[in-house]
Amino acid sequence: GRVDNPYAGAGVYVNPQWAAQARAESGGSRIATQPTGVWFDRISAITGNGSPTTGSMGLADHLDAAVTQDAANGSTPMAIQIVIYNLPGRDCAALASNGELPADAIGRYRTEYIDPIAAILARPAYANLRIIAVIEIDSLPNLVTNTGSRATATPQCNTMLQNGNYVTGVGYALAKLGAVPNVYNYVDAGHHGWIGWDDNFGPTAQTLFQAATASGSTVNNVHGFITNTANYSALSENFIGPVTEQLRPTTWIDWNRYNDELTFAQAFRSRLVTQGFNSNIGMLIDTSRNGWGGPNRPTGPSTSSDPNTFVNQSRIDRRIHKGNWCNQSGAGLGERPRSAPASGIDAYVWIKPPGESDGSATAIPNDEGKGFDEMCSPTYQGNPRNGNSMSGALAGAPLSGHWFSAQFQQLMTNAYPPL
Ligand code: BGC
Repeated sequence: GRVDNPYAGAGVYVNPQWAAQARAESGGSRIATQPTGVWFDRISAITGNGSPTTGSMGLADHLDAAVTQDAANGSTPMAIQIVIYNLPGRDCAALASNGELPADAIGRYRTEYIDPIAAILARPAYANLRIIAVIEIDSLPNLVTNTGSRATATPQCNTMLQNGNYVTGVGYALAKLGAVPNVYNYVDAGHHGWIGWDDNFGPTAQTLFQAATASGSTVNNVHGFITNTANYSALSENFIGPVTEQLRPTTWIDWNRYNDELTFAQAFRSRLVTQGFNSNIGMLIDTSRNGWGGPNRPTGPSTSSDPNTFVNQSRIDRRIHKGNWCNQSGAGLGERPRSAPASGIDAYVWIKPPGESDGSATAIPNDEGKGFDEMCSPTYQGNPRNGNSMSGALAGAPLSGHWFSAQFQQLMTNAYPPL
């Protein structure tokens, strides 16, 4: 049977390919032994495609290496974090991580992507691993926030809502992977600056439930949810505290009920249980790039009595706008990965591997299906999804998933807790 928290008492797999890139950086050996997510962002990544994004190791290579790391660890169980990331019509509200499968390719998603992954995970050689499967980052919340008559809607997200393939695909992945007894599925649940508002908090929980019960799946295939993957939202805005009625209308908070990931993740967990998920689900929070340390970090709460000034001077998250998501300038590594850090939270994790780009700063031809998203250009002035703000992106970024040395260095410089 599955344990309640697969991170508890477990070692977590260190991806040797990411570790080698980290170690090759000046100062990188300080974090090269941290566990990070292993992404399978294309069908060819399952066997290993030698790309700059996923390298030469395929899924079985990583699982073999995890078994070896397990043996080296003695009696401690070993967990490995894999990311399922290849939905049809992927990344419908952006371009930087568009994928290989067109919007209608649900059949290929099932037979060429999920089925082979499930077959490998089910091999007896891996039965002692705790396989943590992070399911489809940044997909389902798009069906709520970026569709219909909303100013933030995109034609691509409307297509995915209409054809149902995000819901069908996630349900299929959950059912197939959940049939493997040592797989722990954690479904992506966006982040507070995406679904923390009254008009999308509950509806997103409903959409997640719909997906978890699609394609023959049940809620028993869901061990928990993950927030903030590949995003930059601060863990705890300690200098601001709870979102009071006085603070809700400020420009930064903009009527959101939450202002950081920990309060959001705990509240969303409760909402998901109300929706019908099991009462023992656990949350993961991605803290790979939400530290916001360094010289611009406030050292205490502002003394201003003006709510906007108070929030802007007190906030740890130094972004221009919470809708900014690409290679954020000034970001730092957040909490180091660890188990059971807070009530309802199974672990702080680094699923987005620090140093891997969110998207290219200029258009770069490629064979990975990736587009150029202006949100990754430092000169872009924004769209309705980021309040028509400057993008806040670092210059010179390579394609999403490719190594971005300047960002890696800045993440270390601005780490909080400091390295
Ligand atoms: C990219 C993937 C990559 C992942 C992890 C995503 O933004 O689209 O190709 O594997 O980030 O870096």
